[in-house]
Amino acid sequence: MGHPVLREKAREIPRDFLVSDEFRQLILDMRDSMKHYGGIGIAAPQIGVSLQVAIIELGTMNRYGEEISLPFTVFINPKLELLTHEQQGFWEGCLSVPGLRGFVERPKKLRVTFLNEKGESQELLAEGFLATVIQHELDHLFGILYVDRVKDTRLLSYQEEYDAFLSGKEEELE
Ligand code: ZN
Repeated sequence: MGHPVLREKAREIPRDFLVSDEFRQLILDMRDSMKHYGGIGIAAPQIGVSLQVAIIELGTMNRYGEEISLPFTVFINPKLELLTHEQQGFWEGCLSVPGLRGFVERPKKLRVTFLNEKGESQELLAEGFLATVIQHELDHLFGILYVDRVKDTRLLSYQEEYDAFLSGKEEELE
């Protein structure tokens, strides 16, 4: 947080770039960084590259009694359509804002259209926790950090205090 690249709108990726070695390497670097820092998603601006690509990989987890998972997915030039104004809140964290957590409310249902790493058009409907994860990652492509969306700054916490006083009260996102 503080690096200007995180505050820029990232550039759309031209289709011919998708077949380049440079693009393949970018995806590998993003995946390595995500795994290294134990995240479930990362966007290119987070590793200093201002291009519209984010990845998410969500192993099976249980949220509000609902089993959710998303296999490794590459979102290129995504377009987000919110399908409800109904909000839901989760405690979010971010690899670009280390050591902090904040409670963020976001619309709970969406449709995202995007290209995958092969350049194929994809559509994904998401709700619940997955909808929050997608909105968090896609925000990175438009210069927005989750801290911008924390409405009540009393619900912003250091990880240590979160673990001691707040954990388990609400759902979490890293
Ligand atoms: Zn983030």
